[in-house]
Amino acid sequence: MARALAGSHDVSVFEKSRGVGGRMATRRAGAFEFDHGAQFFTARTRAFRAYLQPLIDSGVIADWQAAFVEMRRGNIAANRRWGEDYPHYVGVPGMSAVGKALASGLNVCLNTTVGSLTRHGELWRLSDDDGALLGEFDWVVVTAPAAQSANLLAPTVLAASTRTEMHACFALLLGFDEPLNLPWQAALVRDADISWISVNSSKPGRSAATSLVVHSTNAWANAHIEDDTETVRQHLCGVVNAVAGVDAAGAAHSSVHRWRYANVDRQRGDSFAINPQQKLAVCGDWFVRGRVEAAFSSANALVEHLGREI
Ligand SMILES: Cc1cc2nc3c(=O)[nH]c(=O)nc-3n(C[C@H](O)[C@H](O)[C@H](O)COP(=O)(O)OP(=O)(O)OC[C@H]3O[C@@H](n4cnc5c(N)ncnc54)[C@H](O)[C@@H]3O)c2cc1C
Repeated sequence: MARALAGSHDVSVFEKSRGVGGRMATRRAGAFEFDHGAQFFTARTRAFRAYLQPLIDSGVIADWQAAFVEMRRGNIAANRRWGEDYPHYVGVPGMSAVGKALASGLNVCLNTTVGSLTRHGELWRLSDDDGALLGEFDWVVVTAPAAQSANLLAPTVLAASTRTEMHACFALLLGFDEPLNLPWQAALVRDADISWISVNSSKPGRSAATSLVVHSTNAWANAHIEDDTETVRQHLCGVVNAVAGVDAAGAAHSSVHRWRYANVDRQRGDSFAINPQQKLAVCGDWFVRGRVEAAFSSANALVEHLGREI
């Protein structure tokens, strides 16, 4: 979004975290690396494939040709090698490489939470969490998850567009001193409190240290979102052991990340919201579906609309 607009406009990006990438993120713990949010992404539309091509050409994105299995009640119900049908893209050397590449050369203010938007004459005044002025802008585009966008847009004409429910997810991050020699690298898990296990270190360009990323189901996370992380960690370790026979208790690194706003079911309706009179817009995956491509589609549709508007 920002990159597309920066060619013809003076754009500032405010990001509350210490790095860009959002839910397409990589976390490091000693020698271990974990893509604890999005695991891989697909490109179904021609527009997204064209957008990705320069990143593929420059090696920022690669096709993860994982040995994939589907597990049901602890048994492998299906298996195949990815790459035979369509690419399963990942950032290299971590998922966060994609956000970093897209942000390069842009005016990005990290560690900066936008706390409020207020209208002053023809301009929007942005303030941080403490009320300090961040700047005045003629247009504002909000790209945070639905609930966080709702906080910002509550006093504006776009408040009604942000009522989408997002699901939570816990990520269990396990690092091992020795290779696990599993017969798979990516596992979709059915009938358990976890939905996914990946051997993160099997993705292209990763460090040698063996790392696993485990995701809870959205349903389990929604029901346990306020539990303390140690209780969650112990529960998820037990499930990994039962489902996949991985001795999580023997991991050299074991931690949990709580994603309060992780995913969203497929939505029907507009892929962004805009009020041209007030020069205010909002977009994000949650207008479409909880997928990286959906985040692109939403932003791309808004960029095309803005191209006719400003
Ligand atoms: C556990 C998990 C697994 C997933 N797995 C997959 C997958 O395998 N494949 C797939 O395609 N997708 C997956 N997704 C979804 C995918 O990550 C998202 O669809 C995509 O990353 C959304 O991008 P976005 O830019 O719209 O939002 P985000 O990545 O959420 O970016 C929003 C940014 O806004 C910032 N922000 C929020 N509020 C403020 C504020 N007030 N001020 C300043 N900054 C703020 C946040 O810090 C964040 O960086 C997964 C997500 C999660 C969490």
